[in-house]
Amino acid sequence: RIVFVNGSYVPFEEANISIMDRGFLFADGIYEVSAVVNGKLVDNEAHMARLDRCLKEIDIVNPYSYEQWIEIEKELVKRNELKEGCVYMQVTRGAAERDFSYDKSIKPTVVAFTQVKNIVNNPAAETGGKAISVEDIRWARRDIKSVGLLAQVFAKQAAKEAGAVEALMVQDGYVTEGGSSTAFIIAGDKIITRPLSRAILPGITRLTVMRLANEKNLTIEERLFTLEEAFAADEAFITSATTFVMPIVSIDGKQVGSGKPGPLTKRLRALYLEMAGA
Ligand code: PMP
Repeated sequence: RIVFVNGSYVPFEEANISIMDRGFLFADGIYEVSAVVNGKLVDNEAHMARLDRCLKEIDIVNPYSYEQWIEIEKELVKRNELKEGCVYMQVTRGAAERDFSYDKSIKPTVVAFTQVKNIVNNPAAETGGKAISVEDIRWARRDIKSVGLLAQVFAKQAAKEAGAVEALMVQDGYVTEGGSSTAFIIAGDKIITRPLSRAILPGITRLTVMRLANEKNLTIEERLFTLEEAFAADEAFITSATTFVMPIVSIDGKQVGSGKPGPLTKRLRALYLEMAGA
């Protein structure tokens, strides 16, 4: 397995970063994930744009140009002969003597690696997955794809222990998003998802699913929705780079709709798979 560390492609076992890395000590960094299907990056331009925006938000100068990032991703896909899975990229502020404040001259640490994943023929997409709800205990800048993910670690571990594929995070009765996904519900012919704000990560898959739905004249409603509305919905699904459109068939043990992946959810998944070149 070949990984990328600070400009070099090295065997995984030889990759090293400093114990003083601020990503390790303060979670002072951001990450990005792009899917790979049939050896090709999916919707990658938008992921790279979000990476660039998140770096700006945390005052780190993007160490690479768009073209250089693409080259790193493609090189990793090639060297690891990746057919289906993802490329993970992380940029932290870099290594320095431990101190909360930072010197702007610190050189960012960049790591990137590939992971093999079953995305297109994911069995959970056929049956639909269970979800649980948890309180959203995260910070107030969830629009930044920070590597500080302890709240999501709690949420997703609780989901795993409950045999669920995702935890829906809830604040003041309203669903914010999934632990690592955007949440959608369908009521009648309306596809409902929360509008963008600092309360959620602007999902790249979310945006593309909305575009594809729009092209088919399906109705999207961007508004807050409660957990109660999700229980009562006709269909529910989550989206993310590595799950695409994943049907949710129960929440907290309550069946959603028919208890099977719904027709509109299936249609959106099919449209997304087609876009991804599956
Ligand atoms: N929200 C959160 C909290 C996430 O971690 C993710 C996945 N990174 C998403 C939404 C979905 O974003 P995307 O579609 O860009 O993968």
